[in-house]
Amino acid sequence: MNCREALPLMHEYLDGDLQGSEAKALKEHLIACTACHTLFRELERTDAIVKSLPSVRASDDLSARIMNSLPPLKKRSSWMEWVRRHPAVSVAAVFAVVMFGSFMSMWNDDQQLMVKGTDLQNVVIQGDTVIVPKGHTVNGDLVVQGGKLEVEGDVTGDLTVIDGSLNLASTAHISGQVTKVDEAVSWVWYKMNEFFTVFSK
Ligand SMILES: [Zn+2]
Repeated sequence: MNCREALPLMHEYLDGDLQGSEAKALKEHLIACTACHTLFRELERTDAIVKSLPSVRASDDLSARIMNSLPPLKKRSSWMEWVRRHPAVSVAAVFAVVMFGSFMSMWNDDQQLMVKGTDLQNVVIQGDTVIVPKGHTVNGDLVVQGGKLEVEGDVTGDLTVIDGSLNLASTAHISGQVTKVDEAVSWVWYKMNEFFTVFSK
């Protein structure tokens, strides 16, 4: 067994779906291969954390949108197979790659305000507070990291707040999903992205 073959088996093992000769072969590889052994331990921890977070479990709607937004990677077919067989954990990981891949490098920087969106001219930033004023409409998604988000107007896409606070006024209207991510979850996503980076090479 090589390392690439070992990864999907680790997931099946964590899902409780691995038995017999495959389980034996995986165990033998984990004893022989330090890299996979370390990865397995991390995966075991991450799996436990993800399963304990109901908010990370993807809805069918979210799964469908992630499938549609995936870039046409060469490895796509094997990824897709994997995602189909491990919806809860894999979708969280793919979601991280799709949503947060572009600013992963900023993740460990000092707590700084980061605002991301396609329509930022309708957003007012005051210190560490990001405001969508009453009567204003932000078209598309809005992501705020490390700050306070106050919404009094409309957002037509999804709202994501990372390591910050969210205040929705009674006048606010969000068409998409509202997601709050704290440090524990972002750690999971960060680790998941690392796994995919390693194994998609
Ligand atoms: Zn290995």
